[in-house]
Amino acid sequence: MTPPSLFERDARAIANIGRLRFSPVTVVRGEGSRLIDETGRAMLDLSASCGPAIVGYGHPEIVEAVTHAARDMAGASLLAYPNPEAVGLAEDLLQAVPGAGERRVWFGHSGSDANDCAVRVLAAATKRQRFISFIGSYHGAISGSMGISGHTAMTHTLPRPGLVLLPYPDPYRPDFTPDQVLALLDYQFATTCPPNQVAAVFIEPLMSDGGLIVPPPGFLKALQDRCRAHGVKIVVDEVKVGLGRTGLLHGFQHEGLEPDLVIFGKALGGGLPISAVVGPAEIMDHAPAFALQTTAGNPVAAAAGRAVMRLIAREGLTERAERTGARMRQALTRLMDRHEMIGDVRGRGLAIGVELLADRDNKAPVPVSTTAKVIYRAWELGVLFLYVGLRGNVLELTPPLNLSDDDADEGVAVIGQAIEDVVQGRVSDQAVAPFMMW
Ligand SMILES: *Cc1c(COP(=O)(O)O)cnc(C)c1O
Repeated sequence: MTPPSLFERDARAIANIGRLRFSPVTVVRGEGSRLIDETGRAMLDLSASCGPAIVGYGHPEIVEAVTHAARDMAGASLLAYPNPEAVGLAEDLLQAVPGAGERRVWFGHSGSDANDCAVRVLAAATKRQRFISFIGSYHGAISGSMGISGHTAMTHTLPRPGLVLLPYPDPYRPDFTPDQVLALLDYQFATTCPPNQVAAVFIEPLMSDGGLIVPPPGFLKALQDRCRAHGVKIVVDEVKVGLGRTGLLHGFQHEGLEPDLVIFGKALGGGLPISAVVGPAEIMDHAPAFALQTTAGNPVAAAAGRAVMRLIAREGLTERAERTGARMRQALTRLMDRHEMIGDVRGRGLAIGVELLADRDNKAPVPVSTTAKVIYRAWELGVLFLYVGLRGNVLELTPPLNLSDDDADEGVAVIGQAIEDVVQGRVSDQAVAPFMMW
């Protein structure tokens, strides 16, 4: 009898509630922009494992930093003892994030706990209990961050009481214009959501899981001005697109935002678990022992974070993301001539969305099964990426920022081939049935 595959063992051992599987991929190793499966096959990873692998896998500088920190092991808990890696990373972040006055950094393990921390400390420090966020937003999967999220995948849990969800204006599907959304906010403020009870608005500077939506110019700035007039704090969630991915160090810099709090995760650890909240001392120093997590800011993950920050600056990864992203978007846009299914190509830098349609005339989305088939076929052809969007019809490309031009071109070519093969019926419904996730 052949032993069960890693994929079969995963199905038996790993809880379904913590899984998103888009293909039967297994991974035993990583190298640069490639992941290697059980059979030794190398696959180009255009998702960077959902974002964290911002400099790819096994980068020598990260390996070196982590090895060194693990050998020295300056304690294992920032809450108990300061360590030079965590304090150094906090200093790096204070330097990297524009802002005035005394500011502090809090470390966690994930985007979810960082947003959770922000919600709790904002409510406590401002003595305001209401929050505003967007339909389609994803801020995390633990109670506090889930409670201010507006993704369809969150509807199994009730939102936080007092949360107001606004539509995120989508230039490709203008169901709500920016002015209509702002009018809705004004109406909320004038009626059931008194602005002096609102602690903060949570903003994704580019909506990721909601469909890789680039906001219309000026909208977020106008929203910020409305909120700030009432003392509502501006929180920007940079977990998915921050640290160079959009072609600027921070996604909010495209929008002229001046956030009070900035949330980092995913890319910050280059694959190791670390997240951060950067904000004003009067909020972040609210009370001692307010948001404790024993191993958060531990020296190994923090050392990886410092290496990531160094590499972004030294290797010009922000500019590189802009350049490679433009190259990929141009190539994807050219594919639209040959592939009716591609309705829109959008994004910033190396945060790219490809919206798939059943009908270009009325922009009817493809069924999720079709999106899943494209992803499945691309996996068969050796390229990995995922899908997002409230209709499950947007391919999400968030590769490592040091992706080579050759790999970028290969990735786009495979996307075109995968779409063609799906149109030709080369992937069965049965094959993708287990991979329609959200
Ligand atoms: C992934 C994500 C989170 C949650 O981060 P985790 O590390 O998965 O907890 C929060 N916000 C955004 C915008 C994200 O993309």
